[in-house]
Parts: sequence; C-alpha cells; structure tokens
Amino acid sequence: ADRVPANPLSLHPRRGGKKNLPIIEANLDDEQDEVTRSLKEKPRLVIVGGGWGAVALLQSLPTQSYNVTLISPQTYFAFTPLLPSACVGTVEIRSLVEPIRKLVARVRGHYLMGAAVDVDMSERLLEIEVYDDDKQQPTRCYVPYDKLVIAVGSKSNDHGVKGLEHCYQLKTVPDAQAIRRKIMSNLEKAALPTTTPEERKTLLSFVVCGGGPTGVEFAAELSDMMAEDVLKYYPRILDSEISVKVIQSRDHILNTYSEKISEYAEARFKRNDVNVIVNARVQEITPDKVVISLKSEKEGEAPKIEEIPAGFVLWSTGIAMQPFTRRLVELLPNQFHSKAVQVDAFQRVEGAPKGTIYAIGDSATLHVDMLQDLLELWDRYNKNSDDSIDFEEWQLMAAEIKKRHPLTKTYLSKLQGIFEEYDKDHDEKLSLNEVAAMFQALGKKVTSLPATAQVAAQQGKYLGKMFKKLAQQNQTLRENGMPDLDDEAYYKPFDYRHLGSLAYIGNSAVFDYQGWSVTGGLLAMYAWRSIYWSEQTSMRTRVLLMIDWIKRGIFGRDLSKF
Ligand code: FAD
Repeated sequence: ADRVPANPLSLHPRRGGKKNLPIIEANLDDEQDEVTRSLKEKPRLVIVGGGWGAVALLQSLPTQSYNVTLISPQTYFAFTPLLPSACVGTVEIRSLVEPIRKLVARVRGHYLMGAAVDVDMSERLLEIEVYDDDKQQPTRCYVPYDKLVIAVGSKSNDHGVKGLEHCYQLKTVPDAQAIRRKIMSNLEKAALPTTTPEERKTLLSFVVCGGGPTGVEFAAELSDMMAEDVLKYYPRILDSEISVKVIQSRDHILNTYSEKISEYAEARFKRNDVNVIVNARVQEITPDKVVISLKSEKEGEAPKIEEIPAGFVLWSTGIAMQPFTRRLVELLPNQFHSKAVQVDAFQRVEGAPKGTIYAIGDSATLHVDMLQDLLELWDRYNKNSDDSIDFEEWQLMAAEIKKRHPLTKTYLSKLQGIFEEYDKDHDEKLSLNEVAAMFQALGKKVTSLPATAQVAAQQGKYLGKMFKKLAQQNQTLRENGMPDLDDEAYYKPFDYRHLGSLAYIGNSAVFDYQGWSVTGGLLAMYAWRSIYWSEQTSMRTRVLLMIDWIKRGIFGRDLSKF
C-alpha cells in the first residue's frame, strides 16, 4: 500500500512557492534501478528546452553526477537546418528528429512534456505547465532546481508588421508540416479547371520575407521542387505562372556572409528564376498580397509602395524572445537587450543568484561592460600617466582584454591594424578618447554572436564540460567540509570558434569561413549534405536521411497532400 505510484504527478506532492503550486520531483518512481535512485542525492539540474543547446549539454554532461530533468513541449530534437528541405518533401520529417528520451537516457535523466512559464528564483522553483493530451488545460506545478539551464531558443521577430497571421513561419516541425500542406494545397487548387488564370497566378506566387539563410534556403528548395517535379506532373501549370520572390530589407541577401557569397547566391537565383527584391521593407500582409516599400535610389526621394500578389508568404526575418525568456527578463534588474536574456562570459544569467541560472543558444546574449574594463585598464596601462598609451602598452592591454573576453581573440589578432585604425591624429599614441571609441566597437563585436545552431551547440557543450569539472571539484571540497566554488574559480569563460557558415542555394551550396568563401554546383551541394549528415545526433537519422536523398534522386519528391 505504501508503494510510490509510477506517475509522480498523481502523488499529491507537497505544495509551495509564491503561488502555492504542487512541487514535483520527476524521479520518485521506486521501480528505478540502483544508479538512477542514487542520482536523487545529486544536484538537481533542470534543462528547459530540447533544441541544439540543450542536446549538446546533455551529450557532454558527466553521466552520474547530476539529477537531470529536461522540460520541453516537443518530445523530440529537430535538426533545424534541414527543415526547408522537409517543407518540399526532399527529406521526410521523421529523418530529422531524434526522441528526447533517447538523449536524456544517457544521463539517466527525466523528460517532462511541458513548458516553463515562470520562475521563483528565491526558492529555486521553476514553474511549468505539463501537457496531458487527454486534458484540455495544462497542469501547472513547480520543479525544484539547484542549477537551471535555459535553452528555449527564439521566436520570429514580427517587426510590428500588420497581417502576420496570414504568413507561415519556419521554426519547428509543425511549421514545416503546415507549409508542405499549404504548398500542395495551392498546387492542387491551381490545377483545377475551375480556377481562373488570375487566381492561378496568385496561388502560384510564393513570397519569402527575409533574405537570411532560412529564407534563402527555403526559396531554393521551393524553386528546385517547382522545376524538378511540379512542371512534370501538373500539366495545367505553366512555368511562366510560377513565381518565387525573396524580399530583403538590405541591399544583398545572405548579408552576414561574405560579399562574394551574396553575389554568387543572387546570380544563382537569377538563373533559377528566383526574384530577389532588395532594399524593400514589408509594410503589410493581407490574405492575397504583400505590400512593400522600396527604397528610392535617389537621395531624399520618398519610398515607392508596391503590392505583390501572393498565395503563400513565409515570414523569416530575425529573432525575438520566447515568452518564458521575456518573463525571466521582467524579473531581473538591468536587462535591456530586446531579443534575448543577457548572460556573462560563463553563460550565467545576469542579475540571477550566482551559479544557479544559465542561458544558452538563441535565448541568450552575452553582455560585456567594456566601459568598466576601460576604466580599470586605462589606469593600469597608461604607465607614465601622460593620458595616452603607446603601441607597447596597447599590446599588454590587448593581452589582458583577450584573457577577460576570449571572444575578442579573432578581432585582436591584428594589433597593429587596430592601433593604426584608432590613432586618428597619427601621433603613434592612443588618447583616452581614441581608446574609448575602440572599446565601444569591441563591445559590439563581443556581443554580436549570431543566432545559430553552431553557437547554441558550442555553448551547450561548454556548460556540460563546466558542470563536469564542477562535479569533480565539489566532490573533493565537500569531502573536506568546504563550500562549493564559484564558476570563475575552476573554469574558463566561453570561447566561440566559428567553423564557417553553410547555405543551400538550389542544387548548389555556399560555404564561408573567416573571409574564405567556397561556392559551387553539385560538388558543393554534396559537401553541404555530407556536413549535415555527419552532424546528425544518431546513426538512425543518418540512415534515414541517406535513404531520403536516394529516394528523391530516383523517384522525385512525393507530391501527395495529407
Ligand atoms: P532551439 O534549437 O530552437 O530549441 C529551443 C527548444 O526550446 C525547443 O525544443 C522548444 O520547443 C523549446 N521551448 C521553447 N519554449 C519553451 C518553454 N517555455 N519551455 C520549455 N521548452 C521550450 N543554424 C545554423 O547554425 N546553421 C543552419 O544551417 C541553420 N539553419 C536553420 C534553418 C531553419 C529553418 C531554422 C529555423 C534555424 C536554422 N538555424 C541554423 C538556426 C538554429 O536552428 C538555431 O540557432 C538553434 O536552433 C538555436 O538553438 P537553441 O537550443 O537556442 O534553440
């Protein structure tokens, strides 16, 4: 009779926290083995999210040092770079996902299908809602933590544009499924004899708002599908009736890549009939058109307003905070970033009790107070107090900055160049004003890490290694009756290594690594596929992906609408 029920939520657990909600521990089940039971005594590590950052953390954590609980609304990890391919059936959804439970099993952790909604930092309680598919309303409860890692990613930035409810977004697996359904539905409607040529043109007008990697890859996949499969199997649809347009606010697409790559992508799109409209801002979206304002080439002239008929619109323009990240930011002092929660160089959320809350990936942004550094370093390196520093002093100062902020490493590799750039009066010395301008630019460089899987995965891996070291250190300390250490005392700050950017641009791919760019046709596309293939989280998805690519090569894409 006193057996613990298998489902911890049915336990009538203790209540508490500011909202007096049930406090649940995910691992109360007494049918667990010895090792899992022993983990109950270990520090409670709660991970929020099941994407790139969270999975990299799971894969690098020590296996028996933390009592891990992962909370995410989706029961799987999704390989986002291949979502554009899934929208048009080049690969299948099942080939891109890995069940979270399989990944959590490595650390004998627990998975709860739910979402974080709030946090009580003073009592270290994370408020979550858990989903039971048979109940209409989610159940709210608290999960206690010793360490909390926020890896909830981002949502699309609406930029205050009207009519976004008429757009599709591409962030998740359900988004890709909805897009595939809509594309197939438009094609079938366009092929009906009852559809007028005018209606057909609108149905076959696909507009992508945003010329970043996601928008560009989606446009490329869509245009491949139209050329390779649609024209072959839909005799009523003519090539001249299909249009794919990319609307970009800047003067080039892929503007975070090198200029050579942007130009190559634009030329390739021109050849594939993908129309790129640059210097254009979306004003409004209605059920059948996109209203844009085009910047005039002549200075002082008012922008031109244009209407583009559209049967499908993808909105893919930058990132914004998830509701949970926004809630966290509201609870903290001195958070002023609009797109993510500010963290320090150890991925600790600024303003939260030290060593308890960390954030990684799209939901986090590094905050560096370079002004503080400037005040400290100036007095130290301005040795002869002549209110300027020479090149030798600058070298010493730069070494100190690199130590404090490893992310400045690449930028500070050209010391002479930087010195000359900021020595505006060419007196071979930098005045306080000149150094201040340099620090301002440096601060921007340090904090502007891109929102990519690469950054999220490296930060997740970094935290995993840091927590491993912490577990080892604290074991020894506790055995000697000493308190736990601060992160700085046993680990180094996060250091990002850029491994290059990749993009698919229609039976071709581009690759960018620190100024080196590789562009090319089929060979580059196969290189693109092999890189993504090798980055898969399991052999299962590798095999499935390989089968999908072969299937598509032999039989073409599946054009059924579900
Ligand atoms: P995500 O991977 O987005 O994971 C967030 C997780 O948190 C999800 O599981 C979500 O369900 C969960 N979550 C959200 N809210 C809550 C909550 N309240 N409680 C609990 N869980 C929550 N990057 C590249 O480097 N290369 C590419 O080629 C590339 N291509 C991309 C293509 C597409 C279509 C997209 C959308 C993105 C692409 N990116 C690419 C960007 C990359 O996917 C993101 O930068 C990366 O996913 C960020 O990882 P993350 O862990 O921060 O968040």
